[in-house]
Amino acid sequence: MTRVLVTGGAGYIGSHVVKALGEAGYQVVTYDNLSTGHQWAVLYGDLVVGDLADKKRLREVFAQYRPKAVMHFAAHIVVPESVKNPLKYYRNNTVNAVNLLEACVEFGVENFIFSSTAAVYGEPEQIPITEAAPLEPINPYGQSKVLVEKILSDCSKAYPFRYVALRYFNVAGADGKIRIGQVSPKPTHLITRAVKTALGQIDRLEIYGTDYPTPDGTCIRDYIHVDDLAHAHILALEHLLSSGESRIFNCGYGHGYSVREVVEKTKEVTGIDFPVVEAPRREGDPPALVADSTRIQRELNWQPKDDDLGYIIKTAWEWEKRVMRERVRRKT
Ligand code: UDP
Repeated sequence: MTRVLVTGGAGYIGSHVVKALGEAGYQVVTYDNLSTGHQWAVLYGDLVVGDLADKKRLREVFAQYRPKAVMHFAAHIVVPESVKNPLKYYRNNTVNAVNLLEACVEFGVENFIFSSTAAVYGEPEQIPITEAAPLEPINPYGQSKVLVEKILSDCSKAYPFRYVALRYFNVAGADGKIRIGQVSPKPTHLITRAVKTALGQIDRLEIYGTDYPTPDGTCIRDYIHVDDLAHAHILALEHLLSSGESRIFNCGYGHGYSVREVVEKTKEVTGIDFPVVEAPRREGDPPALVADSTRIQRELNWQPKDDDLGYIIKTAWEWEKRVMRERVRRKT
């Protein structure tokens, strides 16, 4: 049976991929420092609590489990924080990726899947964005990921090593069975904030900027359900395991929704007319980010199953209600 090491497998996206790997019959070992992840989120395989900065521990895990492939999710992801503290991002996202790659090379792991991001494109000139668009990140978070992509490319030329970098657009929603989902003490993402506002946990939802050059003046994003994204990882893994070459793929649906459209859909799905106010722009938000995902559809035959904004919001809503119920239960 093929064993896969998943760093950050206790986090939001990582845990959905661990689930998909387990369901597809892979043996999984998660390596996670639980700084933002949760033990309960790891539905399959073993969990090793460890940090990527800890090279000794990492080597022990490689020696013990001898993975055939590595999927690397563990990273910091908060853009404004990366602007304030870039070294934290270069240390954790870039330097620690080098630690992981050193272990891969030492233990002969030739297959690597990397969580990249649409933030590598910065403010793209053309929408939808193809993988050939220039890499011009506008914040250290995006830059920390670009650097890893470049390191991966160099490694693929120097060692027996192939990789797939998946550039995620706006990942949202939760497991269809509502077993796992996003948990964040200070959520910044639109759909999470919208459902929390519907639940009364946030007083009113702010729309950041209504004067963008878009049809309704608010930003447009390509929201992709986390389970469809997880499936893209399985296809990427199969590609590498069947000796496919190193590739980079956008992960999005190829069409976007404005902030206002997401707000209206959230009201419809939840049945709650929660308070919404117009607020100034948030720094660093490009007007529109929409993936051209032709390449992954064509080359990996990725076929989205959950390309439905209502379903994405519904799963996020059901998950948020579950989190709230369990919090109440724990207190009583
Ligand atoms: N947004 C908003 N109000 C919120 C959170 C987000 O208007 O409370 C907007 C944000 O400015 C952006 C879009 O929603 O235009 C998506 O933001 P999110 O943080 O979800 O993802 P990002 O595209 O920044 O990765």
